[in-house]
Amino acid sequence: MTDPRVGVIIVAGGRGIRAGTPRPKQLIDLGGRTVLQRSVAAFDAHPAVSELVVVLPAELLPDAAVIVGRTARRCRYAEGGARRQDSVRSGVAALSSGVSIVLIHDAARPFVDRALIDRVIEAAARTGAAVPAVAARDTVKRVPADQRLVAATLPREEIWLAQTPQGFTRAVLDEIVALGASGVEATDEAMLAERAGRPVEVVVGDARNDKITTADDVMRAQQQFEATPRVGTGYDLHRLVAGRPLVLAGEMLPFEAGPLGHSDGDVVCHALADAMFGAMGAGDIGQHFPNTDPRWKDVAGLDLLARSVAMAAERGWQPANVDVTVILERPKLVPHLPVIIGNLARVLGLDVSCVSVKGKTNEGVDAVGRGEAIASHAVVVMTRRGTS
Ligand code: MG
Repeated sequence: MTDPRVGVIIVAGGRGIRAGTPRPKQLIDLGGRTVLQRSVAAFDAHPAVSELVVVLPAELLPDAAVIVGRTARRCRYAEGGARRQDSVRSGVAALSSGVSIVLIHDAARPFVDRALIDRVIEAAARTGAAVPAVAARDTVKRVPADQRLVAATLPREEIWLAQTPQGFTRAVLDEIVALGASGVEATDEAMLAERAGRPVEVVVGDARNDKITTADDVMRAQQQFEATPRVGTGYDLHRLVAGRPLVLAGEMLPFEAGPLGHSDGDVVCHALADAMFGAMGAGDIGQHFPNTDPRWKDVAGLDLLARSVAMAAERGWQPANVDVTVILERPKLVPHLPVIIGNLARVLGLDVSCVSVKGKTNEGVDAVGRGEAIASHAVVVMTRRGTS
């Protein structure tokens, strides 16, 4: 049997009123990407998936390409309906005919991983319908609607909590859509498959594949991403020419030569700024301070670094610690390190204990060793502002 063609419908049709936030919950930022984008990316990266459909509320549809972002797989957009089953029907209509297995996923479950997707695809191909579920850990009471008295304690070993993605063959999916279009109400697609008399296979779900539903869920998910620090590296080199001042992190080193460059050629500040942009995935200093722009002619390295720190702050990031190596044959760096470190700590908003600058010679080897150039390496750890 050839591998099935797998299409994925990501349902983001809801308006997220329960999450108690002004934005629809699928558009909440989680560490630089929205909940929806993370859900889409999980399937876009799966090798078995051939196409995606994202179902959005009508008012978001005009901006769908921006909201969803770039995908490697073909991605279509569909308009959500009043009920979940209406949104799914709209998504199914946007699928191409070659798709033989369809996964339906809640956009509000951004932590879905590849192993879970694998299990659902396999079970759907085998049984026709598959649902991932986790075993109930708490004792489950049945309480009739509008009552406060327990009617029964359900046998916990028989209780499974359904997740998504739920997977179906095209034939079962067609029955689900037909049933959903009739009067039958359902809270998930597996329920419609059950109603249609189809066997539904349960596969092991994942406790991390939680649905972001309440404001508490949003906060926990954001903390998970914000707690993750980011690392960046930077490198810079400038030729040394006679008669130019040699400035490192604002400290003037008495010497007969200095770096040639459009700016002041402060390799410490340039490498550090590059490392910060790298940690944020935000390009490099050449992009933010192009040397074709007269504004940056002879700009001081510390000023450029301060601007980079401000740009990081706008993106919600701050440096946590930095480690810099300067490679320079002459003059000696050591006497200047306290001032250099102090200047950097001030501009970076860090304690001096979080700023390390080391000097190295190049042992006479290569252009740096011959004193024709100065170079610097920097590593920066960035954390979310307001977290430590
Ligand atoms: Mg430079």
